[in-house]
Amino acid sequence: MAELQFYNTLSRKKEIFEALNPPHVGLYVCGPTVSGESHLGHARPFITFDVIYRYLIHLGYKVRYVRNITDAGHFEEEGRKAEDKISQKALLERLEPMELVQKYSNLFHWAMQQFNCLPPSIEPTATGHIIEQISMIKKIMELGYAYEVDGSVYFDVRKYAEKYPYGILSGRKIDDLLETTRNLEGQDEKRNKADFALWKKTPPEHIMRWPSPWGEGFPGWHIECSAMSSKYLGKQFDIHGGGMDLQFPHHESEIAQSTIALGKMPARYWVHNNMITINGRKMGKSYNNVIKLSELFSGNHPLLEKAYSPMTVRFFILQTHYRSTLDFSNEALQAAEKGLNRLWSAYEILKMLPEPLHTTGENKGLNEQIERWCRECDDFMKDDFNTAKVLANLFELTPIINSLKSGQIKPNELSSNTFALLKKTWKEYLEDILGLKEEKSLQDDKLAGVMGLILNIRKDVRSKKDYATSDKIRQTLESVGITVKDEKDGNTSWSAN
Ligand code: ZN
Repeated sequence: MAELQFYNTLSRKKEIFEALNPPHVGLYVCGPTVSGESHLGHARPFITFDVIYRYLIHLGYKVRYVRNITDAGHFEEEGRKAEDKISQKALLERLEPMELVQKYSNLFHWAMQQFNCLPPSIEPTATGHIIEQISMIKKIMELGYAYEVDGSVYFDVRKYAEKYPYGILSGRKIDDLLETTRNLEGQDEKRNKADFALWKKTPPEHIMRWPSPWGEGFPGWHIECSAMSSKYLGKQFDIHGGGMDLQFPHHESEIAQSTIALGKMPARYWVHNNMITINGRKMGKSYNNVIKLSELFSGNHPLLEKAYSPMTVRFFILQTHYRSTLDFSNEALQAAEKGLNRLWSAYEILKMLPEPLHTTGENKGLNEQIERWCRECDDFMKDDFNTAKVLANLFELTPIINSLKSGQIKPNELSSNTFALLKKTWKEYLEDILGLKEEKSLQDDKLAGVMGLILNIRKDVRSKKDYATSDKIRQTLESVGITVKDEKDGNTSWSAN
């Protein structure tokens, strides 16, 4: 079993972690809040963790990947009033809340399929785990770390911080959190503003509500992940993932809840992907730059110059290391589209290349270089899942593959071992680990059929030495953006610009 190492946001507390225990690995990723259609911001975490999931499987681990669905009307406490997004929207759209949850869950699954993301092993929902959440809240109260006020229950952060390192994950200082929060009106229900809700009493207008020992209400957002991750992965599991924006307060709160209720830190490794900006700006409703995934794939948004295919977006995301920020622009997406095409064409060539037969004429230096670039891919993935460096190496190998086709590099210059490694590396990395796949539209198939017919006719007229007609065909195709090229081997290829 290959040893896995990667950095984490808790690296300053490295000594408390152990290596992953083969063969079983538990991976928990915070899933979407299904109160609206998935947008570009959702693409990055789920593609990032899909690659991590695929890579762990590739290494031979038996991975249980749990990704939840937040459908219990996750409420926010910005401003003073708790709000239930799903209930509000259901009222607006005159739908049953679970109808809305289903609609957006279906759309989310559709987008994940477009991106070729593997489905998780378990996809639990918050509404399906109300009992587990209530029992965890009761436990925290019994141990004295939560209190009830008028039908709502809050976690006592000040008391927790006396004994445990609140802020361990995000680096926030508890004194600052308590300090900045004083004298705010409307916060009187809580003992401190830093306290967070475990259970919230429902105002009369909220439709999503469940009975509890504290009256009718709904669970806090943080508690669902603690309840569901411990139910399916145990008190302590290997990797907890999510976007950087979830580090605080969501994951910090999960740590506090689990430390009290279960006596353990929930995860041994925390992995957070950085955010996507659009033309250098944060994505947000106030900037009017939220691009839904359906708009991205259709090109139907004022910020988009054209449609971008799911694989182009996936490739674009993987070309940057997940911990770096990633700026989305038409220019960058179009460059990614070209890059992916270049890589995929080389992969198609590689699949067709015959195995080297000769045993003489091997180019030792070339073989060593190819093998080094191939083997490095594994080192890059083990070093904090550096997909950007893996892709850079595949780009280094691209001209070699193209030269093998054109004849600039003779097939017998490669040893059969090197050739096999090259093929294996491309298949494993491009398809199995990075999860890229060929995207062929029906339109492309039709065009290919028509072009096959035209080129056959051209071949016929050429064999009859009717070069005038042959040239006319080539020139006419050129005028509509299709380039025909007569190759040295006598075949004719074409490409559409
Ligand atoms: Zn979560």
